[in-house]
Amino acid sequence: PYLPRALPWLLRYLASGATEARVQRIADALRTLLVDAPALHARLAAEAGVPQLIEQRGLLHAYRSRAEFEGDALAWRVRARTGVRWSEWEADELRRQEPDLDARYTLGIHVGEAGHCRDPGAYVAALAAHARALGAERVAARATGFRIEGGRLRAVRTEAGEIACDTAAICAGARSGALAAAAGSPVPLESERGYHVVLPKAAVGPRTPVMVADGKLIAHWMNGGLRAAGQVEIAGLEAAPDWRRAEILHAHLRSMFPALADAPPEGTEVQRWLGHRPSLPDGLPCIGPAAGSADVVLAFGHGHVGLCGSARTGRLAAQAMAGLAPEIALAPFAPQRFA
Ligand SMILES: Cc1cc2nc3c(=O)[nH]c(=O)nc-3n(C[C@H](O)[C@H](O)[C@H](O)COP(=O)(O)OP(=O)(O)OC[C@H]3O[C@@H](n4cnc5c(N)ncnc54)[C@H](O)[C@@H]3O)c2cc1C
Repeated sequence: PYLPRALPWLLRYLASGATEARVQRIADALRTLLVDAPALHARLAAEAGVPQLIEQRGLLHAYRSRAEFEGDALAWRVRARTGVRWSEWEADELRRQEPDLDARYTLGIHVGEAGHCRDPGAYVAALAAHARALGAERVAARATGFRIEGGRLRAVRTEAGEIACDTAAICAGARSGALAAAAGSPVPLESERGYHVVLPKAAVGPRTPVMVADGKLIAHWMNGGLRAAGQVEIAGLEAAPDWRRAEILHAHLRSMFPALADAPPEGTEVQRWLGHRPSLPDGLPCIGPAAGSADVVLAFGHGHVGLCGSARTGRLAAQAMAGLAPEIALAPFAPQRFA
């Protein structure tokens, strides 16, 4: 039922990936945002007192054959041109590195530079506590718009009244669209809904976070257990979760690690989640001043890489709010590119 509403976004999405040159331009821009993400996050996590939450074991892409890997050649060409490097693990090496992974996977592509966070909720909570310790004040209220006079921001409007201010950042994830429009920068923001399952009692799993080509999901250990995340569902912000998608992830996870079947029944222990990836149709976030007032900075729309890209985005938003030069070129992320 959501298709008519999503159609304009979907057409722009198709157009953005229509040629390899366009995909390369997107990847090159994303690279500037993400290139040192593990190091930036490790530093932030250390400052916030939770260094153990950021790990860097790389990301393993597992294929069933070299032909399947070659089917992804475009993606790997694009990555290589941005400077991503990897090691190839043939079947024996893959078995040695990942003894629990199903034997149908015979080729591993290991990208060593990738990092991961073992508990995003705990990480954000620690960052928030750290900010408060440094003097930040947290007001929990739903923002509804802005009071802008003569191009200058006077206040953020919220359901609990106005908050007087002279600068603000819009970082409300998939719900940022209405706020951006209120600041004079309407952008085509859509939710790419995704799902995860967590098996808190799993006893086997990967040594390295692993993305499997046949299921397009990522599996890894979180503090809460073994997690599989993936799926893209375009159904807007309000539709109820379709838990069959979580079941697809669960079934695939069990086929990736056959020994999971030997464990006691998971019963109600399987945790499921629906999340919203805030996505612009060209795969790039919006980072930069709003058209209605340069005092309002847009910082959202990171799609599949919003945790990864958050550390640099926070720096860029802070630089824009403080009137400092941005540390990377912001042109590819300009909110006005959709005008
Ligand atoms: C299944 C799945 C797997 C993913 N895997 C990865 C991954 O491996 N790596 C990665 O980097 N990213 C991943 N992502 C994407 C990542 O989760 C998002 O890109 C990221 O959460 C976006 O961050 P955000 O801060 O922009 O938005 P959010 O995390 O959605 O936060 C927005 C915040 O704004 C608040 N808010 C909303 N509206 C208002 C309002 N009007 N007033 C005040 N506050 C408001 C919300 O309550 C929320 O706290 C995944 C997403 C999904 C769904």
